[in-house]
Amino acid sequence: MKPRIAFFDFSSCEGCQLQIADLEEDILKLVDIVDIVSFREIMKDHSDDYDIAVIEGSIMRPMDEHRLRKIRNHCQTLIALGACATIGGVNKIRNRWPTREVIKEVYKDANIKDNEFFNVKKTKAVNEVVPVDYYIHGCPINRDEFKYVISSLAMGKKPVIPNYPVCVECKKKENVCLFELGKFCIGPITRAGCGAICPTHGSPCDGCRGILAKPDVECVMDLLQRYDLTYEEMKNRCTMYNTGIFNPKDGMTLVKRGRK
Ligand code: SF4
Ligand code: SF4
Ligand code: SF4
Repeated sequence: MKPRIAFFDFSSCEGCQLQIADLEEDILKLVDIVDIVSFREIMKDHSDDYDIAVIEGSIMRPMDEHRLRKIRNHCQTLIALGACATIGGVNKIRNRWPTREVIKEVYKDANIKDNEFFNVKKTKAVNEVVPVDYYIHGCPINRDEFKYVISSLAMGKKPVIPNYPVCVECKKKENVCLFELGKFCIGPITRAGCGAICPTHGSPCDGCRGILAKPDVECVMDLLQRYDLTYEEMKNRCTMYNTGIFNPKDGMTLVKRGRK
């Protein structure tokens, strides 16, 4: 029997689901190996009978946490899809300010008190609320990686996601390092898997695939020293997708060493 798969969206732009909806003829290959029982972007039908839940988006409100826990209790396998879900992504930028101030800035004097839809808390990634079995990284996700993860699971295999820096893929492409061109790229601490698409096109990596659990701190500190950059600048470069990663509570602290 084919595994039954359902897609759910939380706070997101839905761009990751759109990548899947855009698979075109490959979606036919996908339905050969899995039964899609719920996917709001492409079908009207919905079933609560699913084995794999794919979660897109960050978790903002108590009502979202409640819904996510129900999904987790219901499925055997839960996949976080895209940066909003895997690491909180751009939605976490606002965690840098008190939530009350953010709400005031957005909604001004609108009467939203006691309305659960506006009961917004600090942004959370999916794994801050429920256990996650697999991660499909990126903003947006890489369609090939999505197909690989789903086909692996359908065959009963464990998908392997790169756990080395974007620089590895960038070097393989023989790109000129953007640090040499005066740009600040966080490829050295970011998880690979995107084929170093941004530096290959001249844009520094912003870390959408998440910061490596164990970045090569020695290498990073050497790099900062060589290009006369500071740890603080590195930290600021990470806030687009990875706000809070330098918080020791997150367990992903890039230990500050060396000069500056
Ligand atoms: S990860 Fe990026 S593309 Fe995907 S839903 Fe979030 S903002 Fe959109
Ligand atoms: S451009 Fe970025 S990803 Fe490429 S080698 Fe330099 S630091 Fe690494
Ligand atoms: S290079 Fe960096 S920002 Fe660009 S897609 Fe890859 S991980 Fe994301």
